[in-house]
Amino acid sequence: GKEKEKKKADKNSQSVDTMLIDGAHAPIYPLIAHQIISKLHITEGVAIDVGAGPASLSVAMARLSDLKIYAMDISAEVIQIAQESMEKEGLENRIKLVHGDVHQMPFPHDFADLVFSRGSMFFWKDLPTAFREIYRVLKPGGSAYVGGGFGSAEVKEKVKPQFERDPPNSIPKIPIDTLEKAVLKAGINDYTLINDDSGLWVLFKKRNQISI
Ligand code: SAM
Repeated sequence: GKEKEKKKADKNSQSVDTMLIDGAHAPIYPLIAHQIISKLHITEGVAIDVGAGPASLSVAMARLSDLKIYAMDISAEVIQIAQESMEKEGLENRIKLVHGDVHQMPFPHDFADLVFSRGSMFFWKDLPTAFREIYRVLKPGGSAYVGGGFGSAEVKEKVKPQFERDPPNSIPKIPIDTLEKAVLKAGINDYTLINDDSGLWVLFKKRNQISI
């Protein structure tokens, strides 16, 4: 019953809290947030963090910008835990936790100035559908920054031992040509692939509407 559910949540909240507060991969997030902002120059409006998990990247983005962030995840449990830590951090007005699946996102068309996502696409069942959805929710002129990685070789070296100790944290890989094919299949022709020390990322922009 309720008691059992609560116990389960408590147990998980401990592990996710650890990830958020003293996780060895904590330095990843400010670095990646900085990379997103310096590449895309989007610091206000609406953003969606897809597969946000404990919302560490959302927190880093909130601290570097004036964005209103919707941190979405498919796991209701993770959403609840993240919500509690947003309240602890005093960020509940900046970051709204949303339960949702990238393949069918609970947002209207033309909603977000920015969609960002780290470490989640490797788990998506249908990449072209996911990219089509991300494109759909972007405002014309809005941009997406989707992929995974550690931001830099230095940070990766620092945090990798933690990932190896903790196998559930190790993220499966996607070959770069599979990623590129999925983006093209989604009908996105204007994109940039990044495959370097920062990780594997795809950046794309939604075309501005053409007025006649
Ligand atoms: N972005 C966070 C980070 O970098 O710390 C979490 C990354 S974690 C490795 C992957 C997250 O993606 C998990 O929280 C998982 O629940 C979420 N996820 C997996 N499939 C998803 C889907 N189809 N839609 C939304 N989120 C998904």
